[in-house]
Amino acid sequence: MAEIRVEDLQKRFGEFVAVKRSSFTVADGEFVVLLGPSGCGKTTTLRMIAGLELPTSGRILLGGDDVTFHRAGERDIAFVFQLFALYPHMNVRQNIAFPLKCQGMSRSEVARRVAEAGRILRIEHILDKPVSGLSGGDRQRVALGRAIVREPKCFLMDEPLGALDSEFRHVMCGELRGLHDRLKATTVYVTHDQLEAMSMADKIAVMNKGVIEQYATPQEIYQRPVSMFVADFIGSPSMNFLRFQSALAPGDDVVSLGEARIGIPAIREAVPAAELALGVRPEHIRFDDGSSLRGEVYGTEYLGTTQIVTVDTAFGQVKARTGSDIRVADGSHVGLSFDAARLSLFRASDGGCIR
Ligand code: ATP
Repeated sequence: MAEIRVEDLQKRFGEFVAVKRSSFTVADGEFVVLLGPSGCGKTTTLRMIAGLELPTSGRILLGGDDVTFHRAGERDIAFVFQLFALYPHMNVRQNIAFPLKCQGMSRSEVARRVAEAGRILRIEHILDKPVSGLSGGDRQRVALGRAIVREPKCFLMDEPLGALDSEFRHVMCGELRGLHDRLKATTVYVTHDQLEAMSMADKIAVMNKGVIEQYATPQEIYQRPVSMFVADFIGSPSMNFLRFQSALAPGDDVVSLGEARIGIPAIREAVPAAELALGVRPEHIRFDDGSSLRGEVYGTEYLGTTQIVTVDTAFGQVKARTGSDIRVADGSHVGLSFDAARLSLFRASDGGCIR
């Protein structure tokens, strides 16, 4: 059992609260990503789980045991950083074997584990090479090898692919996820890259200013964001927000944007008159001559099979993703329609989700 439970965790640096009362559970064998912009508290959260930073308050439980005040070395956890510090005077095999030798493990067991790590990471052919000439990807595989030979119950990874170029990062994302599927070790992974998070995570914790705004599967986070911050952070281009004033009553399933009446999922609780934001993903916008929600085409970005068309409306600028066979000239006037079931509605004042 290697469940990680974080309860009401808080970290202050002087007056500044870097992590605010965070609670989440990573189930045994789950791959969880902490995602958010720079400075939102991801690394601090991870360092507290690792035992490299003491929380100001709250608890951390590993497999049900309270480890809040245990030292890093007493936790059955391996940490992989972005900057993979390999020992330059050792070859790959020696680098991977090093943590085991430090533990005083027998030669035969070290050899077995290094061979196994080499096989899992597909680096058997470079085990006897010096690390100095290795590519970034191979260096990162060696760093991972050094973490997995310990056969820990949990892996904590802080932007482990951050130093790689984007194309190679994508390849390594697939490899890391494949590695996780084979080892099934509970993993917490920090990144600010939403695509990395979406492609690897069982669950994502989206963080903003020290607070976990949403903790859910990538699908839920994409389809049902709980705040404008989450909606805006996930997706590329991000969700569009059409701003308008309205009050709503329970059961209302239509909102008025000027002349246009737009179907939305039915409202559950009364909403007093306020500025609201209708959230729509670019791929859920259709050009529809019959719609009275009108806008003027500002420009088109061609992407091969799809294109992003930017349209100025009276309620804000929107970006629509369409097939690249659809022709819309800059400056032309278009009608826009949406699929009601896929819309979100937020309060503009605090970004909270209404529906
Ligand atoms: P990044 O991706 O940039 O590392 P992050 O989300 O991991 O961002 P943290 O490194 O956890 O963010 O930092 C959260 C906040 O806490 C930041 O504002 C940072 O400046 C502050 N912070 C982190 N460590 C310390 C420290 N030792 N002393 C003071 N402030 C700190």
